[in-house]
Amino acid sequence: MVPRTEAVYLNDATLRTLTTEVLSSQPIPSLSEEEKSLAKSVPAEYNAITMHRTIFYAQGGGQPSDTGAIGPVDQDPTFEVSLVRKTPDGRFLHFGKFLHAASSFVAGQPVVQKVDDSKRNYHSRLHTAGHIVGLAMQLLMPDKKKVKANHFPREASMEYEGLLYNEHKPIIQEKVDELVRLDLPILISWLQGATQVGDGEGAEEGRSHDGRTRIASIGGLDHNPCGGTHVAKTSLVGSIIIRKISRQKGISRVAYDVSPGIEA
Ligand SMILES: [Zn+2]
Repeated sequence: MVPRTEAVYLNDATLRTLTTEVLSSQPIPSLSEEEKSLAKSVPAEYNAITMHRTIFYAQGGGQPSDTGAIGPVDQDPTFEVSLVRKTPDGRFLHFGKFLHAASSFVAGQPVVQKVDDSKRNYHSRLHTAGHIVGLAMQLLMPDKKKVKANHFPREASMEYEGLLYNEHKPIIQEKVDELVRLDLPILISWLQGATQVGDGEGAEEGRSHDGRTRIASIGGLDHNPCGGTHVAKTSLVGSIIIRKISRQKGISRVAYDVSPGIEA
C-alpha cells in the first residue's frame, strides 16, 4: 500500500519547485481499476508517478489540474506531467510521459517537481474570481443558493437556484469590480472537524486527512470550505468580466472570465 501524498500547496500555494522522493512509478495498465478510472483522458502508454509530497494541484473542486515536469535532482526534467488526480485515499497520481524511452524513476529516488507557473497563476486567478463572484452574489442577493462552481478556462461560471436575468449583469459586474478594487486579502485557515460553513462547495478537496477543513475567505467577509489555489489578494485576479447570464430548469448560470488571459 502506497502512503498518502502530502499536498504542500494547501499551505503554500506560491511554490513552483519542490524536491521530494518518488514513492512509485507505474505504467497505467498496471494500475488498479479505480486508479485507471482517473486516467481515462490520458494515453494508455503514459505512466503514473506518486511522490512523498507534491506542489501539483490535482483536478477537483472545479479547478483543472496543474501541469509541469519532474526530473532527477540537478538535472533537466525527464518526465512531463499532463494530469494530476487524487485517489479517494489521498494519493496523488501524476500522469505523464518520460521524455526518453530509457528514463525511469525508482522508489526512494529524490526528484525535483516543477509546476507550470503561467498556467497555475491563470487557474488561481480564475478560481479566486469565482470566489469574488460568489461574494458579490452573497452581498447582493443573500437568498440565492449557490449550487455549482466551475473555474475551468472558457467554462468558468457560478450557478444559483432561481432566476437571474440580463438586467442583473451590470449590478453583479459593478460589485465584483468594487471587490477587486478594494484589494481584499484571500485568507486561508483550518477548522477542526468537518464543520459545515458556507455552501459546502469544495468541502471534499478542502478536507485534510486528519479531519480538518480548509477555509478560504475574502477579507473575512465570507467563509467557504475550499481545497483550491488562490492569488493572495483580489486585485491580483486582474479584471473580472461577467460574460453572460443564462437559465435552465430553474437554475441560473453566471458565466465569467478574467482578463488578461493566460498569455499575460
Ligand atoms: Zn477556493
